[in-house]
Amino acid sequence: LFITLEGGDGAGKTTQAEMLASWLEARGLETLRTREPGGTPLGSAVRGILLHGGDELGAVDPRAEALLYAADRAQHIAQLVRPALDRGIVVVQDRYIDSSLAYQGAGRVLDTSDVRRISEWASGGLWPALTILLDASPELAAERRAARGGTADRLEAEAAAFHAAVRNGFLDLAAAEPGRFLVLDASRPVDELHCEIITRVEELLAR
Ligand code: C5P
Ligand code: MG
Repeated sequence: LFITLEGGDGAGKTTQAEMLASWLEARGLETLRTREPGGTPLGSAVRGILLHGGDELGAVDPRAEALLYAADRAQHIAQLVRPALDRGIVVVQDRYIDSSLAYQGAGRVLDTSDVRRISEWASGGLWPALTILLDASPELAAERRAARGGTADRLEAEAAAFHAAVRNGFLDLAAAEPGRFLVLDASRPVDELHCEIITRVEELLAR
């Protein structure tokens, strides 16, 4: 079973992914918690370039950026996710193809169908059974990012219009595939969100 969590920065994906993974483990299901970008040694290196490459990178071309995410994804799926799924392990993953469609597609100038094509090529066409979209208003997301402190990564520092485009991108994806997506209002209490998520996951496990 392959489950992904999506949403903007500060939506609460990591918190819900941890809670879901603990719940699955408590039910005796072996679970792998992982994330994109990152998750493998190659992925960590790519993540470092993408998020903290700094000024020496200059303006990163959107196609180059999209291909770096795709490279991370290819390695991550081949080295970690597919082998785990093959062994019957439940994979709970922070971000996946939908993030590319929302950030590199809706958020940037790239054609979403091109981003979809390279993503599907990179992943070998692997799609999750369930995608949890934590939908946060721009205000809430900005508040959470500020509360978390530290310095913003390259993407988090983007303008409000970018984050709004990304949010709408996610909502459009969810509307197009209501069967795969569970859309939740990220401003709701953490425990309530967790309950909704496990209700849906229980349905999947019962199938
Ligand atoms: O989920 P996390 O906050 O770790 O993501 C790291 C950063 O990468 C975020 O700022 C996110 O906006 C960005 N990202 C992206 N395109 C993706 C995946 C992540 O721009 N496909
Ligand atoms: Mg982040």
